[in-house]
Amino acid sequence: MSTPMRIPMTEYLEIDLETERWLCRRCAHDLGPARGNYKEGTLVYDRDPSEIHRPLIDPGRYEFTFAPDPAWCRILEFYCPGCGTQVEAEYLPPGHPPTYDMQIDVDALKAQWAARPPGTVIPLGRDVAAEPLRVDGKGSPA
Ligand SMILES: [Zn+2]
Repeated sequence: MSTPMRIPMTEYLEIDLETERWLCRRCAHDLGPARGNYKEGTLVYDRDPSEIHRPLIDPGRYEFTFAPDPAWCRILEFYCPGCGTQVEAEYLPPGHPPTYDMQIDVDALKAQWAARPPGTVIPLGRDVAAEPLRVDGKGSPA
């Protein structure tokens, strides 16, 4: 069977359809169940937003400096525990849990890929020509 078992979902995340697990695309580290939130399998760095967006004007002279106020905003960075690749970042109000940004219908994804002809590929990466996904095996777009 030539249907791929690992389906790329983002630049750094993929789903293994056979095991139904989120994986890091860099090192294949298991990030958790594909029916759950991959962020639960990552390392989280809770950043002070003013470290990332430094004040543009003197904070000693001005109350508002164009830097985010840590009392109103936090930045969460999510890293693969296997290779340290940053896989996601998000801005949230303090106290807000990490968002559930991708909820994949794994059964539909499996059916979609099972219906595709052998050799179906998704063009990915900067070195690949931007062509639509081919699903009929004859070279015409879906
Ligand atoms: Zn990794």
